[in-house]
Amino acid sequence: DDLISQIAAGEVVERPASVVRELVDNALDAGATQVTLRLLAGGVRLILVEDDGLGIPREELSIALRRHATSKIASLQDLEAVGTMGFRGEALAAINSIADMSLLSRTGDSEHAWQLDGRTGELKPAARNRGTSVEVRELFYATPARRKFLKTDATELAHCIEAVRRHALVRPDVGFAIWHEGKLVEQWRACSAGSAQEAHDQRLADVLGSDFVTQSVIVNYESSARRADGLPALRVWGRAGIPDAARSRADQQFAYVNGRYVRDKVLTHAARSAYEDVLHGHRQPVYALYVEMDPARVDVNVHPTKIEVRFRDSREVHQAVRHGTENALATPRS
Ligand code: ADP
Ligand code: MG
Repeated sequence: DDLISQIAAGEVVERPASVVRELVDNALDAGATQVTLRLLAGGVRLILVEDDGLGIPREELSIALRRHATSKIASLQDLEAVGTMGFRGEALAAINSIADMSLLSRTGDSEHAWQLDGRTGELKPAARNRGTSVEVRELFYATPARRKFLKTDATELAHCIEAVRRHALVRPDVGFAIWHEGKLVEQWRACSAGSAQEAHDQRLADVLGSDFVTQSVIVNYESSARRADGLPALRVWGRAGIPDAARSRADQQFAYVNGRYVRDKVLTHAARSAYEDVLHGHRQPVYALYVEMDPARVDVNVHPTKIEVRFRDSREVHQAVRHGTENALATPRS
């Protein structure tokens, strides 16, 4: 089982940023309003993610490290409509098989926290406010070949920051802080005041720079087709940067499906086509686009990292993103 976990880990964990991504996913699934990341040596020596979420009950702590242990879905039907970031129950087990791990957690109704040592399975009382701290030390210690593939600490740190950035851009209601070697390197405060658009713009400005907001247009598109419950079959919203003005950078293209960051050819192509049609530019478009659609029409369980998706009808998604972005770019700005 240890070997199987390690092989599975190879698919989920490529570098420290993969761990960061999974742990922040878990914190958000637990309803955290503040997520703090502490790193040493770009995350290779230490990744510590602290949240103020629901916590893990004592009797579930050791179960959480087992393979296919998930508290998030109970049936195949749930899988169709999965609303959480995680659902495969693989991440913690995988990470535990390739690093020194410990969980420290306290639920709202517990008198104190419990700490679980991932290696020994020892469970002991500890002190903490409500929430969970997951500590991951010496990633890939047992697989030196993998460890050799890691880049410099600075590069690994940049990837870790990018992993949090992807979460931050879709959760302005959650505060994020990143510490490296004892220094605060990024901090994005929770924005809850004002409208959803204002909160979102504030977060975009904090994370991507205020230029991104001032030099972009609002995308807001709804397909005319409706779901059974009356919601638009597809909604595309967000901001598309004007490349003349905004510094065009290949790494400033963020696409989300139902709150999940994805890398997807259909979305990339649709956005690019809109830029070519309207602006005839050859520069890299810059955008943060959010697609909301019926979860039953998109499969997020294509790959263990859940970064790839498969649409049931990719044409309708392509059209919505393309039209939505085109409309926004073609509207004269005041
Ligand atoms: P998944 O997220 O796919 O369910 P994971 O291996 O990432 O699987 O986590 C296993 C389980 O551990 C989760 O289903 C959840 O019950 C619990 N868990 C992990 N991290 C946290 C956290 N930060 N707060 C609360 N519960 C957590
Ligand atoms: Mg998870």
